[in-house]
Amino acid sequence: MVQLQDLKYLTVKAVQAFKRNGINTVFDLLYHYPTRYNDYTITPISEAELNKTVTIAGIVTSKPNVAMVKNNLSVMNFFADIDGEKVRVTIFNRHFLRTKIHYGKYVRLTGKFDGRYNKFIAAEITFDEYGTAINPVFNIKGIDDKKVLEIKERIFYEYGDKLKEDLPEDLRQEYNLISIKEAIRSINIPETMDETLSAIYRIKFEELLKYQLKVKYLMYMRKEHPEGIVINYDKEKVDSFISSLTFTLTDDQNTCLKEILNDLSSSYKMNRLLQGEVGSGKTVISAIALYAVCTAGYQGAIMVPTEVLAQQHYATFQNLFKGFNINVALLSASVTQKERKTILEDLESGKIDIIIGTHSLFQKDVIFNSLGLVVTDEEHRFGVRQRVSMVGKGYLIDHLKMSATPIPRTLAISYLGDSDISTIRTQPGNKKTVITKYIDYNKRFEVFDHIRKQVEEGRQVYIITPMIEESQALDLKNALDVYENTKNYYKDFKVGLIHGKLKTEEKEAVMQAFASGEIQILVSTSVIEVGVNVINATTIVILDADRFGIAQLHQMRGRVQRSDYQSYCFLISKSTVETSVKRLQLVEEINDGFTLAEEDLLIRGPGDIFGEKQSGFIDFKMANVVLDKDILEKADIAADNIIFSKKLFNNPEYKNLLELVHNNYVLTKENLE
Ligand code: ADP
Ligand code: MG
Repeated sequence: MVQLQDLKYLTVKAVQAFKRNGINTVFDLLYHYPTRYNDYTITPISEAELNKTVTIAGIVTSKPNVAMVKNNLSVMNFFADIDGEKVRVTIFNRHFLRTKIHYGKYVRLTGKFDGRYNKFIAAEITFDEYGTAINPVFNIKGIDDKKVLEIKERIFYEYGDKLKEDLPEDLRQEYNLISIKEAIRSINIPETMDETLSAIYRIKFEELLKYQLKVKYLMYMRKEHPEGIVINYDKEKVDSFISSLTFTLTDDQNTCLKEILNDLSSSYKMNRLLQGEVGSGKTVISAIALYAVCTAGYQGAIMVPTEVLAQQHYATFQNLFKGFNINVALLSASVTQKERKTILEDLESGKIDIIIGTHSLFQKDVIFNSLGLVVTDEEHRFGVRQRVSMVGKGYLIDHLKMSATPIPRTLAISYLGDSDISTIRTQPGNKKTVITKYIDYNKRFEVFDHIRKQVEEGRQVYIITPMIEESQALDLKNALDVYENTKNYYKDFKVGLIHGKLKTEEKEAVMQAFASGEIQILVSTSVIEVGVNVINATTIVILDADRFGIAQLHQMRGRVQRSDYQSYCFLISKSTVETSVKRLQLVEEINDGFTLAEEDLLIRGPGDIFGEKQSGFIDFKMANVVLDKDILEKADIAADNIIFSKKLFNNPEYKNLLELVHNNYVLTKENLE
């Protein structure tokens, strides 16, 4: 690898400037891309629009007239013949160029033309008839762009032939991709914008293809090299468990369950996402899967992001497994040391069949007797570290991830490329769509009347207080204020309060009181956002709704989706910020989580949706999974085809790509062990 410092024609200063920017070798430099391009392509003066920056060219036809304003500020005027028009050119603070401007001199000017007076205000002036029209902006501190371009030209001339082509000829033909050499040249040393765009396309395609190949290869190796546990579940027992349910499964649930059971009984490791909105019936599917695992003599674990949810699942599971001889345990943060010790012993001896808990489940001292399936609920809420340690319990253990956060297709292609996906689209029962209204703060009293009516009809209500990001103390104060006001306003109703500062037992007690109908109005911070299940609650009021993201709003609305009664969601906001208003309008109009998620993605970008924890995961030098989703979709198809046609393995032209994905695979596998 040739180091820049070994090139005699580079000054020490230049080498150091490159180094400071992380550019050490000739290839680093060639693969360092411009951040943008200034287009100095010449426009005929007849096509120059008012107030639009254009580049024009012509011949100087007068002496310059310079007026010094003060210090070094100056105005210079001269005339030029541009495409046969006499144009008066004005340029500021370039008096030092006055000697270059004389009759017959070629000038190229970038600026704005006012055709009404044939006046051109120039921002830039050059005299070089043969300079390139597209100027790349490299943004390398310490060296100006012109110099960088010169150096790149020379280095490309000397080393361009050594650039490694990773994309085979047949692939490039199929997808209309120029060669790497051509692409690197056009990106760094551009001639026309069209050519540069083809080069950018090729580089983006390559980045996305390589990424897709890596994730698809993980999937391929997982399926083609089975080393997972085969769960020989007892079909009869599973069927009788299903018939013990008080309802019949929906078509979607049946399809998803079949896919999951198929994974379990196969010899490859399951890596499946079960997605469906809150209330679509995922939990019951996971319970069936866990039960299936138990019938084969294995243990199951279900990991949830919050204590409240753990408690809720525990209650649900105990209920579901009544009479099925399944020992369900809850490893909560609030158990005593003694209880914890007993649970851990029973888990290790195999006495416990199914364990439910938060990330505390995957601490070092938690030892399973024969773990067969891990279910994670709302997996993306766990930090990367927690997930790695969880999978670390056995990287061959089947893993079912559940999510109520609909993942837009574009993101699913990239983030979840190595997962299989099962989707529950329809809600069980014939539940009515939630009526959502975005209400201006000044009209909030209409909502208060609605609440009163609902409660008088026997229904229950959630009031969600805003999240204050800067301060948990403010969050709490806010919740307390809203609670006091609500109590005073509805003197005849019972109002409860739940917030993050409460102890687990306290939260539990309030939730219990709400679930049993003892409390009619529950004021809550967003801590209980996920999965809480109170069928009689028909109205959710979200105060200062603009403080929440689309996904969160939709998630919270899901809490009243479960009712057989008509239910309502009110988004109350004072905000006039355009993007906030837009967000609230979208939630008001769109009920389908998948459609909302696509919209959300466009507004916020992927980093925000998955939290900053994961945003670095998918950083490309050029491509962007959201903005380049058309290229991503093509690259995804190409990756599929390359792997599943086995070209990757059999065709020597694909050697570089195979090496790349295999190195990545080995790395990943080690990480998981
Ligand atoms: P999720 O986990 O997706 O939020 P749950 O599994 O908790 O959904 O289901 C929500 C509610 O709907 C639960 O009370 C559950 O018992 C019920 N339920 C699940 N599947 C069905 C079905 N097929 N028919 C009727 N009710 C169902
Ligand atoms: Mg759930």
